[in-house]
Amino acid sequence: MSTELTWQTISTSTVSTEQLAARIGTRLRGGEVIELIADLGGGKTTFVRGLAKGMGSRDKVSSPTFTISNEYACNGLKMLHYDFYRLSEAGIMADELTEEINDPETVVVIEWGDVVADVLPADRLTIKIEATGEDDRELTFTYPEKYGYLLEGEA
Ligand code: ADP
Ligand code: MG
Repeated sequence: MSTELTWQTISTSTVSTEQLAARIGTRLRGGEVIELIADLGGGKTTFVRGLAKGMGSRDKVSSPTFTISNEYACNGLKMLHYDFYRLSEAGIMADELTEEINDPETVVVIEWGDVVADVLPADRLTIKIEATGEDDRELTFTYPEKYGYLLEGEA
């Protein structure tokens, strides 16, 4: 296993969470897997909105709670945004997800990923968001060294 790195930061507004995510979005190359962990209303979808903007997408980003996945066009790459909140078993989704994870031109972003934990690669960016106040969020990034470019200049 490769070394895991951690970086923590505080966001004090929706806009600053989106801006941080957008900076990370500009650095995405395709092939990355990002898992977002937070309670309902924590800011997972807000973060994904920033990521997609940073990737150059003009598509509307919303939680795919009922459709399970949304796809956004992003300057040659695509982003697949999953929300497994309503899924009790991975089932056939495991195969679809594996295929997308292995596509070098796709960025896979996941909310509520516990149900597909077996399928997620060890090499992924995990972002844990904790609400510490109405507008305050503590964001903890955990990632392998090979994803260092995603947070370059932030730390
Ligand atoms: P989740 O996808 O985790 O359920 P959402 O992104 O849909 O969360 O909702 C987060 C809510 O919290 C939004 O209404 C957003 O405006 C609000 N919010 C307040 N402060 C922040 C912050 N610092 N970062 C992200 N969202 C924030
Ligand atoms: Mg959401």
